[in-house]
Amino acid sequence: MAPNADNLTAVLYKVNDLRLENRPIPEPKDDEVLLKMGSVGICGSDVHYLVHGRISDFVVKEPMIMGHEAAGTVAKVGKNVKNLKVGDRVAIEPGVPCRICDFCKEGKYNLCLEMVFCATPPVHGNLSRYYVHAADFCFKLPPHVSLEEGALLEPLSVGVHACRRAGVGLGSNVLVLGAGPIGLVTILTAKAMGASKVLAIDLLDDRLALAKNCGADLTLKISRDDSPANVAKKVEEVMGAKPDKTMDCTGFSNTINIGLESTKSGGCFVLVGMGASEVKIPLVSYAIREIDIRGVFRYCNDYPLALDMVASGKVNVKQLITHRFELEETVKAFDTAKTGAGNPVKIMIRCNKD
Ligand code: NAD
Repeated sequence: MAPNADNLTAVLYKVNDLRLENRPIPEPKDDEVLLKMGSVGICGSDVHYLVHGRISDFVVKEPMIMGHEAAGTVAKVGKNVKNLKVGDRVAIEPGVPCRICDFCKEGKYNLCLEMVFCATPPVHGNLSRYYVHAADFCFKLPPHVSLEEGALLEPLSVGVHACRRAGVGLGSNVLVLGAGPIGLVTILTAKAMGASKVLAIDLLDDRLALAKNCGADLTLKISRDDSPANVAKKVEEVMGAKPDKTMDCTGFSNTINIGLESTKSGGCFVLVGMGASEVKIPLVSYAIREIDIRGVFRYCNDYPLALDMVASGKVNVKQLITHRFELEETVKAFDTAKTGAGNPVKIMIRCNKD
């Protein structure tokens, strides 16, 4: 393939300056594969970089290629690649760790300080016609799993990691705060893992309707200024007991306090949402109720289970897709994500027409 063939690529230059341009087709290194990109989803973090140019210490200083929720078809393999061949369709796990530090060796590679993660500055993403990636962070899709579903394994893996961190299993009573894409994949996963009851909380009726479709047994609409004590009381009434596993998928101080207040003594609260870095909570009162508070950072060894849940038909992740665009329409796709026109949940971009 000529390096100057069509490789239309979505590049963020600076705040609200997203451009499509042709870039050379990269050559895979020995352990990499060249991928003809299939689908790429838009995530809240992509929109954050577009609108604010940064997420905490990650600042867009140089033009950056967008995209990290992705799947594609192998077009070329590096000489050491044994696990894949040309024509294989794969989901792309977007973060590649160093593989040699203590975190990697302990099996917590999501905490690797040398992590190279797509579309996190200064690392480029994969919203383009062609892209190269480490072969061992590509997961072969069975024929009946689509490239769109492959791309959705990225957010789904966050849900898998959250539920694993919470210890969700048969019989769990689960509370999920926030029914955006991440809350919804958490609900899908909690049900697939055997939770008896899942209660979803949100501010919006349409999000709660989606939560029901994703398997939430119960829903509760609250307002932004409802007190944690009042909501916790309602949660117990609606569920018939306090939840033993709570996952916050909003990152807001009030919902974190609602989640902690609602959780059963001896239960587990998992913080998936990422908002302000400092949150005021009455820590001691939760400590004496022996509530375990756990963090979540992306995922780690969760793609295989996410793929299995989709391939086995246990989880329908396609229902999250509300909008579809072609790569040429990327700016329009991001405008839709930014403005929320048409109530988007998951927006997918198709990178190649065949
Ligand atoms: P989103 O903004 O699309 O969805 C958030 C949902 O929470 C919305 O439905 C909104 O209506 C609801 N909400 C907002 N305020 C609320 C309140 N006070 N009470 C109840 N519901 C409320 O976001 P998303 O893409 O679903 O992501 C959710 C969070 O997860 C974000 O903070 C994101 O940064 C974080 N995230 C974390 C990780 C991780 O590795 N920990 C990975 C991906 C995303």
